Amino acid sequence: MKIKSNLHTHTLLSDGNNPVERMIEVARDLGFVSLGISDHSPIEEFEKGIGSGADAEEKYAAAVRKAAESAEGKLDVFCGLELDYFSECKRELYDYVIGSVHLIEHDGIKGPIDWGPEVSAQIKRDFYGGDDVKFAEAYYKLVFEHARRNVPDIIGHYDLITLCGQIDETNPRYIETAVGYVSEIMKYCSRFEVNTGGMSRGHYRPYPARPILEEILRLGGTVIPSSDAHRSAHLAYKFDEVEELLRSVGFKTVDRLTKDGFVADPI
Ligand SMILES: [Zn+2]
Ligand SMILES: [Zn+2]
Repeated sequence: MKIKSNLHTHTLLSDGNNPVERMIEVARDLGFVSLGISDHSPIEEFEKGIGSGADAEEKYAAAVRKAAESAEGKLDVFCGLELDYFSECKRELYDYVIGSVHLIEHDGIKGPIDWGPEVSAQIKRDFYGGDDVKFAEAYYKLVFEHARRNVPDIIGHYDLITLCGQIDETNPRYIETAVGYVSEIMKYCSRFEVNTGGMSRGHYRPYPARPILEEILRLGGTVIPSSDAHRSAHLAYKFDEVEELLRSVGFKTVDRLTKDGFVADPI
């Protein structure tokens, strides 16, 4: 396996299952050269983690950096954040930010798009009259708005909206919508993660789908593999499949973060 890093991971500091130190240990055992911790924003909402308070982000970053120091000389540990569209962050605290959309809003009401088929079906019905293309259009518009407003380093799980099976991915109108937003988003961020987190929850493929990957490649965007690991056992989940998929699409490299910024590794 040529993928030796993962920047999308969650720990006990948000909704993950292991402490930062355990994630680092397992990353080392896997032969990773680097690891990024990217717990969820707003970090102060995770009571079992860092707790509430105006300085929650500082506490989170300090906890990650302390663990990173203990790994010095073994592997590089970066402090990141998975920034949700409906929150803000103190950007200067982080080495990188992943921009993700988890909630969709309609008439002032927010609904989660990844809480399972029933919730997703209800949102599609109540917010969009059962029209999956309208549902998708509203979602991708938020991904675009997120990119424009926050200019993240990485676009998180680009087509998360497909997770719960409420979208007909064979519908040309859907494909046109999902693919169409890639060029708009690339005005602000051209690095997309290829994320196996859905696969560990039963999804049939990594995000994003092949036509989207083809568009990213065509437009000169880059990809960065991740597993959205909420437990240490998933740190390199299905990375071998991701490598194979990316090669078959035509990608020659994947991005990796170093202390000097992002570099491209051959695959
Ligand atoms: Zn996410
Ligand atoms: Zn995540």
